[in-house]
Amino acid sequence: MMIATPETWYQTKALNDGITWIYEPFIKDYYRCNIWHVRGRDRDLLIDSGMGVVSLREQVAQLSERPILAVASHTHFDHIGTHHEFADRAVHPAEADVLARPTRKNTGADYYVADDSIFTALPPGDWQAPQYEVRPAPAQTLLEEGNTVGTGDRNFQVFHLPGHSDGSIALYERATETLFSGDVVYDGELAYDADNADEMRQYVTSMKRLLDLPVRVVHGGHYPSFGQDRMQSIARAFLAQYDR
Ligand SMILES: [Zn+2]
Ligand SMILES: [Zn+2]
Repeated sequence: MMIATPETWYQTKALNDGITWIYEPFIKDYYRCNIWHVRGRDRDLLIDSGMGVVSLREQVAQLSERPILAVASHTHFDHIGTHHEFADRAVHPAEADVLARPTRKNTGADYYVADDSIFTALPPGDWQAPQYEVRPAPAQTLLEEGNTVGTGDRNFQVFHLPGHSDGSIALYERATETLFSGDVVYDGELAYDADNADEMRQYVTSMKRLLDLPVRVVHGGHYPSFGQDRMQSIARAFLAQYDR
């Protein structure tokens, strides 16, 4: 398989509202995490940070220009791989221990990174799938339901939406009706353990909350962004199957 260069590992696309979409083009789409950079007046937000196989700060210049809070929507390996490169980090308390002490097991890497088949070009350097690990990145800030995260001029409400994982959070900016939803809802095959009754009950409750939320755009943890109609149809399809 071709080996990628560090310079081509990330691609960026500026969207509206001071938001930049960053992604890793050589990771296949089910595994490829969306990284969101939100410009603020006093500081910026980074929501998720990719798999961590190439330095994000070194390759994406706009991430080293200003103070930045790196938020973890949750702590699966594909979302927290470069959190250690940012001094200020935030996560839900239910997954704080994973961010501080990540293992291949507790980040899901054992389950998903069995071999090189998740890539279309291999990471540069001495990449070897069995040696892949996420670096520890303990958070100074814990984000719970009802908290807000600010940038000086923008405010995001924290929603705790467990189901995909215990500490899954979404960030919601009411002024622009923008939702960063992590892996709770995105426009692709959702990941959950249908045999785990407790988790599925939580996921049902989380989906019900999203049904009534006014949104203009949802930026999910994977796949392209979408609007309110699509969010509601994804949530309704899930609830039709699992809300008993
Ligand atoms: Zn996940
Ligand atoms: Zn994910």
